[in-house]
Parts: sequence; structure tokens; C-alpha cells
Amino acid sequence: MTTALHPEPGTAGPASTATGTGTGTEQDAGQPYAYRRRPLHEPDWRRFPAWRDVTTAEWESAQWQRAHCVKNLRQLRRVMGDLLDESFYADLERDQAGRATMSMLVPPQMLNTMDTSSTEAFLADPVRRYMIPVDGDRRADWPSHPYSARDSLHEAEMWAVEGLTHRYPTKVLAELLPTCPQYCGHCTRMDLVGNSTPAVDKHKFTIKPTDRHQAMLDYLRRSPGVRDVVVSGGDVANLPWPRLEQFLDALLDIDNIRDVRLASKALMGLPQHWLQDEVRAGMERLAAKASRRGVQIAIHTHVNAARSVTPLVARAARAMLDTGIRDVRNQGVLLRGVNDSPAELLDLSFALLDEAGILPYYLYMCDMIPAAEHWRLAVWEAQELQHAIMGYLPGFATPRIVCDVPYVGKRWVHQLADYDRERGVSYWTKNYRTGIETADPDALKRRYEYYDPIYTLSEAGREWWARRQAVGE
Ligand code: SF4
Repeated sequence: MTTALHPEPGTAGPASTATGTGTGTEQDAGQPYAYRRRPLHEPDWRRFPAWRDVTTAEWESAQWQRAHCVKNLRQLRRVMGDLLDESFYADLERDQAGRATMSMLVPPQMLNTMDTSSTEAFLADPVRRYMIPVDGDRRADWPSHPYSARDSLHEAEMWAVEGLTHRYPTKVLAELLPTCPQYCGHCTRMDLVGNSTPAVDKHKFTIKPTDRHQAMLDYLRRSPGVRDVVVSGGDVANLPWPRLEQFLDALLDIDNIRDVRLASKALMGLPQHWLQDEVRAGMERLAAKASRRGVQIAIHTHVNAARSVTPLVARAARAMLDTGIRDVRNQGVLLRGVNDSPAELLDLSFALLDEAGILPYYLYMCDMIPAAEHWRLAVWEAQELQHAIMGYLPGFATPRIVCDVPYVGKRWVHQLADYDRERGVSYWTKNYRTGIETADPDALKRRYEYYDPIYTLSEAGREWWARRQAVGE
């Protein structure tokens, strides 16, 4: 057995990770953060009443994990038994009926990293906060920003063919499918990804998947200016392996494609998927072909909290690196209550880099989707966090905090052109045209706006927004 079990079944959950306090040596004295290597930890799943008899072999099976995902309140109750108070379920039910933009889908792997020692601890758990949001988490004053939107990045407007977003000059995003093995409450693609909820009727692709994938490949064959494809969804772990390999194999035959990035949060949420023999063997074939052709393949995953990096996640990441791909990188999302302190970001980055071989790459600011204000940070907060984490990690592994500005794209948070702190409006510029602006003479002169959460503003700023809302602006 390679899974490190918590010594006592029935105990709380993951040991808390570093904050750098209380371990002082002379060298650490006065430093805001003290680095210590910390072994990864897989909490004992047998503390969950429903999983008391689950064996290591079952736990490490992708099929078992998929079959035992928690998809609704009834299943959560069954798994948790008496670990949570009724008040939690009532709070969850209110959220699902009213505000939730994503349906529930939590693999056992992810539930197991949450602190279940009490209802209060579960409520405070960083992974719970974004995977199982409850009504009490959301802002009552401004649950959504007035400029929040479904598809807040306007990806569908920039589809060259259905599901293929051509936003940057040399890069495209290929959304192969609209599902994932896990659904994050803050999902940027809430417009399309996952099942409909009472609050959001999801859009659907209209073209058959095989025809869509073919159309994407055809577009790339006739677009010699595109060299980089993010193969995403959803999550590519939900595409049957032979179909994913077929698509990637065809992609590698296109001469202009030099970089291929596979987007899969499942490397963390369902590492069992990436450890399957079929998947490992297929990745080896693809890595070998990419190497022959001088193309770089990397996996981009999405980990937001250090406690999510378990020994099994590290094993999956290393298994992928062993196939010969170029890299495994992390694109986390900066979320209030989840990872909004320098210590949490550094703990996460060191766990990824030192223990799993995953490169901390980006931290995105949470996008301006509906009902997300409680998760979002203001740009100035993101700037302070970026400043606070500089100098601890190697430069190549210091994650860049980026703001994905609508109609612009990713910008480092210090790159803004102007900032009205009172109203929480930042202004950004860009140096390329997106796919829908080729004929727009002003695209490169215009300033594009991004908005801080209103509750983070001064009283004067909050009043300004309240007055606008009162007159219906
Ligand atoms: S894994 Fe990515 S695409 Fe899937 S729900 Fe989470 S954020 Fe959205």
C-alpha cells in the first residue's frame, strides 16, 4: 500500500499545512514566512461512515471514485452520516435552490481532503468553500457585481468554430466537452459546463462532438498563425481516452502546432484517472510523437489549496512526467476564504513544486460571473499578494497572479493602465486584436474595464454603486 493513511480512523481530516509560525530558528526570525518541507498527507477516508470498509484498492480505482462521487444533498448525507449538523444541509439546500451556478459533483478524493471534525470546521474548510458552497457563504448585499455575466470572458463570441475560442493571435482554446469529473462552485465556464441548476439554464453545444472536433482540427490546419492549443473543456479527463488520443494525435500532425496543453483539474480531483494503465500508455505514445516532432505537451491542472496535494496526486503528476511530457503546471484560482493569504499561497506552491513536481504557474483572479462576489478579490488585494509571495520560490516557479480582463485576456495584476480605487474600476489596454476585432481600428487604443467587488470599496464607492443601482443604470 502506498497511500499514507491517517493513523486513527475517525479523526478530523488533513493536518493543517504550514503558515510558517511557531517553528522559528535564528534564520527565520522576523521573516513573514518560514519554509519547511512538509510531507504530503492523505487523510483516512474510513472516518466517513459510508466509506468505513472501503479498501485501498477501491480508493485507488478511478471507476470506484467516479461511481461514488457526491452529486446531491442526499448522497452527501449518506456519506457524512452524523458528521454534520442539520443546519449545514439547510444552508446547502438554500444555495442549490437559489444561487448555485454549478451543480454538485465532488469526487471522494476531494471530499476526503476536507476537515470534517465538526460542522464549523467543515464550513471553514478552504476546499469545501469552493466545492460545496452554501447560501451563508455568499454576500447578501452584493451577491453579484452589476457587470457580472455568464460567459464573462466572452469566449463564445470568439468561437472560430463551435467550442474553439480564438482570442489571442497565436493561441486557441479548444473546448472538447462540457463536463468535468468535479464541479467547482466558481467555474468561469458556468455558462456551458455542467448540468443546469435552478439559477442557470446551461447553454449546449449544437454540433455533434466528433464533427466539432473535426471542425476544430480543420480550422487549425488552415490557420498557420496558430501555434498553441489549450485542449480543455470541461476537463479532458471526461473524454473517453481513445477519443482524446485520436484528437491529440491529429493535432500533433499539424505542422504549425508547437505547444499543446491539456487542461485537467482531475489530476488533483481524480488522480486515479491519470494513473490508469490505458491513460499512461496513451500519454507515453503522445509524448514520444511530440518529442519526435519537437512539440511540447504539458498538463495544466487546477489546485487551489495545499491540502489538496495528497500523495496520490503527487503520484499521478510524477506518472505523467514519467511519460515524457514536458511539464505539469498549476493554474489555481485566487479565492477569498480559500487561498487569500501569502502563507496559503506559498504553502500551496511549495507543496506542488517540492512534493509533486508540479510547477506553480498562474493564479487567476476569480472571474466576474454571477453570485461570485464573496470569492472575488479586489485588484489591489491581488497586487499585495503578488508582492508578498515574491522572493520565496524560484523565479520560474513563482506563480503570476493574473486578471483575465474581458475582451483583453490575461494581464499581470500590476499591468493596469489606470485604477479608480473609489469605484473599484481598473482600466487595461492590449497589444493585439481578438478574433472579433480584426476590422476594429480602435481595438488597440481602447481601455477595457475590470471591477472590484463593491463590498471592498470605501463608503463613498459603495454609495456610488448603490445610487446607480437605484436609478437602474
Ligand atoms: S474543473 Fe475547471 S471547467 Fe470544470 S468545473 Fe472546475 S473550473 Fe469549471
